[in-house]
Amino acid sequence: MATSVSSQLNKAIKQQYMELIQSDKVQAMYIWIDGSGEGLRCKTRTLDSEPKTVMDLPEWNFDGSSTYQSDGSNSDMFLIPVALFRDPFRKDPNKLVLCEVLTYNRQPAETNLRHSCSKIMSMVEDHRPFFGMEQEYTLLGVDNHPFSWPINGFPDPQGPYYCGVGADKAYGRDIAEAHYRACLYAGVNICGTNAEVMPAQWEFQVGTCEGINMGDHLWMARFILHRVCEDFGLIASFDPKPIPGNWNGAGCHTNFSTKEMREDGGLKRIEEAIERLAKRHRYHIRAYDPKGGLDNARRLTGDHETSNIDQFSAGVANRGASIRIPCSVGQDRKGYFEDRRPSANCDPYMVTEVLVRTCLLKEEGDEPFNDNQ
Ligand code: ADP
Ligand code: MN
Ligand code: MN
Ligand code: MN
Repeated sequence: MATSVSSQLNKAIKQQYMELIQSDKVQAMYIWIDGSGEGLRCKTRTLDSEPKTVMDLPEWNFDGSSTYQSDGSNSDMFLIPVALFRDPFRKDPNKLVLCEVLTYNRQPAETNLRHSCSKIMSMVEDHRPFFGMEQEYTLLGVDNHPFSWPINGFPDPQGPYYCGVGADKAYGRDIAEAHYRACLYAGVNICGTNAEVMPAQWEFQVGTCEGINMGDHLWMARFILHRVCEDFGLIASFDPKPIPGNWNGAGCHTNFSTKEMREDGGLKRIEEAIERLAKRHRYHIRAYDPKGGLDNARRLTGDHETSNIDQFSAGVANRGASIRIPCSVGQDRKGYFEDRRPSANCDPYMVTEVLVRTCLLKEEGDEPFNDNQ
């Protein structure tokens, strides 16, 4: 089984150094989204004292020509700290710092979708928009082979694996367990985890988060997952269809509610939102994966608990629909709805922004989403 060489180094020796006292210095790991819109990058600096809020953190910069973010001529990019978390790897008082990226002339970088999202979220604060996202992922070896799958051939067909227990059903639980604790330590608003339908596929849920916090917390949860997997010598893939054929894809179901939807009789507001979404299916599909729908085209086939990418549908408890109203919400006549279309590798800033644009700002028109306007 192909785990990384680094993961096989002697961890007891590393621990000897990690136990050295660090006096009053603090390590801050700055984290940002690279030019692929999917990859994360990080680098560390020493601070003289423990930062209490992002306001205490200095701006920084990096070489954008090495992250697909600029050409060589104006390659300096700015890192603007926007969210502060505890560091579960180096532990207190060290920090993980999520950053926005600005270009050399201080414009949002092309894949800095947070910039626009935070403006839109501040316009709808009074509606108290809550989100919860279900992040599915697949564990791979460093040879890109699904973790613990036979070298040749396939495991038994899907059926026993979803929420499964036992060595023949749950492949790689160590990762999910370590990630969950690391997120709790960091202050990421993780609310659950489960084994998924395909063996070696898992899900964690983050939420509920209000407004811009959804994107911040999900991106930090993804960073922590990659970092945990690095320690184990494995890879977490967010590819929406890692194994072609009769195997489940990976999505990032996005649950959404407003204050009005959560109040008595809020089901009516949910139905109104769904009517608006029905008229803008193409626009949303365009925004729900980093390739404008091409990634999701491999996943949204109408099989494996997905809807067809070309057709909008909605229903109570229907897992084959674009939008599902959970059973309990139908009964209570208030609550939230689930958009099942976003791909596992979606940008949560983009997904939450377009939901707000369509459902709350009542934008219309089904033209594809215009990136970073
Ligand atoms: P599923 O049955 O689709 O697998 P999960 O239990 O995996 O559902 O995830 C439910 C998600 O719904 C969680 O991310 C949670 O934060 C979110 N959620 C719960 N209540 C609300 C709400 N009122 N508004 C928005 N999201 C919500
Ligand atoms: Mn789920
Ligand atoms: Mn799931
Ligand atoms: Mn779901």
